This record gives sequence, C-alpha cells and structure tokens, in this order.
Amino acid sequence: MTHDTNRQVHLASRPNGPPARSNFEVVEAPVPEPTNNEVLVAARYLSVDPYMRLLMQQRWPVGEVMRAGVVGEVVDSRADGFAEGDLVTGSGALQELDWAEYTLATPEELASLDPDLGPLSVHLGVLGMTGRTAYFGMLDVGEPTPGDTVVVSGAAGAVGSVAGQLARLAGGRVVGTAGSDAKVEWLTDELGFDAAVNYKTTDDVEAALADACPDGVDVYLDRVGGEITDAVASFANAGARFAICGQIAHYNEEEPVGPRLLSRIWTARIEKFTVSQFEPRFRAATRRLARLVESGDLVYRETVAEGIERSPEAFLGLFAGENVGKQLVEV
Ligand code: NDP
Repeated sequence: MTHDTNRQVHLASRPNGPPARSNFEVVEAPVPEPTNNEVLVAARYLSVDPYMRLLMQQRWPVGEVMRAGVVGEVVDSRADGFAEGDLVTGSGALQELDWAEYTLATPEELASLDPDLGPLSVHLGVLGMTGRTAYFGMLDVGEPTPGDTVVVSGAAGAVGSVAGQLARLAGGRVVGTAGSDAKVEWLTDELGFDAAVNYKTTDDVEAALADACPDGVDVYLDRVGGEITDAVASFANAGARFAICGQIAHYNEEEPVGPRLLSRIWTARIEKFTVSQFEPRFRAATRRLARLVESGDLVYRETVAEGIERSPEAFLGLFAGENVGKQLVEV
C-alpha cells in the first residue's frame, strides 16, 4: 500500500563546520508512478552514516533529494525480476537509494535481500555496508593474528563494534576507544573487548592507551583520526598495520591536517580502504557474518529513530556520539 505523499530529505544548504538541522529540509512530493522497466520501492529502514557529511559538502546538489542506504519493499513493479512484496536494497556498495519514503528505481539499481539471514534492519548494519566494512577492514587490511594487540577507535559504533569482535575471534587482544562510560562497559562486558578507554573523560588519551596496550599496537582500525590516532602512532610496534577506515573527527574541518605523527612509527603498513573495493566478495562476507550472528559469536546493537522526519537529527547524532551500534531510521 502506498501513501499519497512521498517525504524526501533535501540538502537545503551546505554545512559550514559541523552539520546543522538547517542544512536539511523534509519536502513532500507526489509518490512517483513506475513506467516501463521501473520499480517503486517503499523504504522500511534508512541508514544515516558519517560519510554523508562529506557528500553534503562535495557532491550532492543543493535543493535536491539526498541519498541514503535503504532497505525496503517493492510496492509496484513494471520491470522483470522484481515483484510486489520483494525485499530489496540499493545495489551499490553503500546500498543507496533516495533519502525518501519512496524511490523509483531501475532493476540495475536494486539488489534482492535474503529474508532468511535476519530481520530487515540488519541488512543495513551487521549484515550490510557497515558489517562488511568491519569484516574487510579488520580481516583483510588489519590482518590480526593470535596474540596481536588490536586497537579500534570509535569502537562502540556500527563498524567498530563488529570489527572489534572479529579481531577477538581472530585471537587478538582488543582495545577500544569510545565516548561514554556506558559504551565502554558495553565493549568490555558484552562484546569481549579486553580493555576500553573513554576518550572524553580521560585527561591523557595517550597515557590511557599506553596502559591498555602494554605490548604496543600491532593492528589499528582507525575510524576517528585526531588525537586518538596520534596516540596509537606513538606506540605502534614494528610491522604494525594501520587500516584507515574513516576519520570522523576531521569531517567538519575546512582544512583537515595530516597524516600526523608518522615520524613516530618505526615500520608499518598504513592503508586507507573503502568497502566498495571488496564488492566481488560481499556475498561470502555477508554469509559468514550471518553465521557468526546466528551462533552468538557476534552480537550487535541498533539505535533506531522513528520516522523519516527524525532522520536529520539521527544523522546529527552521529557527530555527538548519540548512537550505540548502528544508527537507523525506521520509516
Ligand atoms: P558510527 O556508528 O561509529 O557513528 C559515529 C561515531 O563516531 C559516534 O557514535 C561517535 O562515538 C564517534 N565520533 C563522532 N565524532 C567524533 C570525534 N570528533 N572524535 C571521535 N569520535 C567521534 O559510524 P560508522 O561505524 O558508520 O562509521 C565510523 C567511521 O567509519 C566513519 O569515519 C565512517 O566514515 C567510516 N566508514 C568508512 C567506510 C569505508 O568504506 N572506508 C564505510 C563505513 C564507515 P563516540 O561516542 O565514541 O564519540
């Protein structure tokens, strides 16, 4: 069943520094009708992600609907291969469709979801883009081996919480950083991290991390940059692997500085990666993640905002650390 109106989230203006609610406008448009070779998808969950901040600055046109990771249901189809009731997502690595209640898409823009793998929302989180980023970032780029000390920054977020558990399963000693005591407790008590540091309440992040990593650092999954990454660079072991996933602490800077403090590192492989480079192996990774969730070896959490009109606030909350695990919007 479709509604009469299609609420869309438009880019009202480009952010200047930290993004603000005024950069977004929720606009009502008519629900589009599919014609030849088109499919109408009703979004059930939307994903808000830190990378969107960069696209708001650099790519998306002002005054137009933005894009977001979507899982949804086909409500009308004039294309072969998709029928009403099918569960779908965007076919690209970021799973993007319109940041809207409804998207008109061609079959090439859609991928079918396997409902047996878990509830719909997990296809945007632990079994979706962020889970796959954790999987490839940790296992392919970080390459932890038993006994390695592995540090994950932003450890209680969507990517970090999964990546840290994968490092533990690979035999690593896992240390996380996060922005609240509740997050630190979740990491150590439920996810099996060996130690975690609340970087917001610690006077000296470098000293706290040095305490937590007495044997230095072998693998670092960087999701935040800034002083945490500087600190880890100070006691990286020879031959360390730095998997640079993202650096949210720099996304609001007009002129980010860095890379910083590389002179402190003896020898290391420092690799910036994007999940899309692993696209040919997505299916295998998703199935392995699903098996780990099913066996209870991998646990996940979701923070869910209700209603598309709440999605700008949900996005802004990523920069204030309001989410635990994957931030989603239920449409
Ligand atoms: P998260 O679920 O981790 O949400 C963002 C978190 O970042 C917040 O909860 C907050 O947690 C933390 N944070 C916000 N501002 C700062 C800051 N200034 N300094 C330190 N921490 C901060 O998001 P994702 O897991 O989706 O993404 C995490 C990172 O990974 C981002 O940089 C993102 O761009 C990147 N990424 C890269 C991909 C790739 O293909 N390379 C794919 C997906 C994500 P806290 O309470 O701990 O501060």
